[in-house]
Amino acid sequence: MDHFAYRQGVLHAEDVPLPAIAAAIGTPAYVYSQATLVRHARVFREGLSGVNSPHLAFAVKANPNLAVLKVLAGEGYGADVVSGGELERALAAGMAPADIVFSGVGKDAAEMARALEVGIGQFNLESEEEGVELAAIAHSRGRTASAALRVNPDVDAGTHGKISTGKAENKFGVPFDRAAAIYARLAGLPGLNMRGLAVHIGSQLASLAPLERAFTRLGDLMRAIRADGHNVTHMDLGGGVGVPYKAGEITPSPAEYGAMVARITADWDAALMFEPGRVIAGNAGVLLTRVIRVKPGAGNPFVIVDAAMNDLARPALYDAWHDFVAAEPTGQRMTANIVGPICESSDTFAMARDIDALVPGDLAAFRTAGAYGATMASTYNSRSLVPEVMVSGARWAVVAERIAPAAILAAEHVPDWLA
Ligand SMILES: *Cc1c(COP(=O)(O)O)cnc(C)c1O
Repeated sequence: MDHFAYRQGVLHAEDVPLPAIAAAIGTPAYVYSQATLVRHARVFREGLSGVNSPHLAFAVKANPNLAVLKVLAGEGYGADVVSGGELERALAAGMAPADIVFSGVGKDAAEMARALEVGIGQFNLESEEEGVELAAIAHSRGRTASAALRVNPDVDAGTHGKISTGKAENKFGVPFDRAAAIYARLAGLPGLNMRGLAVHIGSQLASLAPLERAFTRLGDLMRAIRADGHNVTHMDLGGGVGVPYKAGEITPSPAEYGAMVARITADWDAALMFEPGRVIAGNAGVLLTRVIRVKPGAGNPFVIVDAAMNDLARPALYDAWHDFVAAEPTGQRMTANIVGPICESSDTFAMARDIDALVPGDLAAFRTAGAYGATMASTYNSRSLVPEVMVSGARWAVVAERIAPAAILAAEHVPDWLA
């Protein structure tokens, strides 16, 4: 459930009519609903009521906006970060260092040192080599890094290939068969406190079955490592729960997910950690856009909107579907291709889609754009970096400014030999 709905025929974010935001700051623009973020954060936590004091770390890469992180910090969420930049955002949002987990296959020495300096809660190690390097950096600074080993369970998540992470051929985690040996070696290194295992098999999972298989394998591994005499006190089950992108699409509910987790982990005797991203933020945002022109096509007409693949990359990257609705529908319908202005055929949001009838100047919105939306934006085609707005009740504020092409140009320099 979200807080984007029509009132008197006008699409609102909570109590704010979207045309008012478009009139004030222009389009394209992302609009987030604080009440929806809060609701999703609470529903996810309630889903885990069968689990003893779960540790919730929002996957910052899904939506790193400072205001969004601040809302989730207020809900008691920590952060799962994958870069030094995300670490600084989580800290700036007021998340306690102890509630921050650092994931990612390519943490460099400077990022590790900074994370140690601020005292993050856990490093999720993605290779033996990374563990050895982290141990050395920590030891040389007189510190001990708490760490979990990310395991690749070789489970097919059944999601889009580009967002699958738990198959043997993916770059993530250590091979399941080697994990116990690697854990044992890392556990013996000074500077490292090996305390757990981690898994994350992919994103936008439509079924719980692959997650259940992965968690079951992880539990087996935990028992084997304990039998070798090592401590395993923290089990990080990652993120990946899907959200409905199409009206009527069914995805696992947080309650179903939580019940499955509680069943699989009942006898684990370990602190459980979670890294939800999309399920918290996805349906808490829309991308507002205005129709520039309607152009006849060989088949269906092209509705050319002022948002493009640089603002919302998911359709171009993953063939993703975003529902597309008029801000003030007339009741008429049309079948159209929805495209942006960028000079690439991949700048296509939908083909032959049945949508609200639109004419130039009309305002519309791509739904479910709160996760992996603005964070993937670029300035391709020398377009602006898209702004972000947060709504709370009848209030709204710009939480990320539009960065105009002139500002990007100002950061470029012509070398003196060309001047
Ligand atoms: C991206 C990512 C997540 C979040 O995935 P969602 O599908 O958005 O829940 C969690 N953990 C790790 C390690 C990730 O890379």
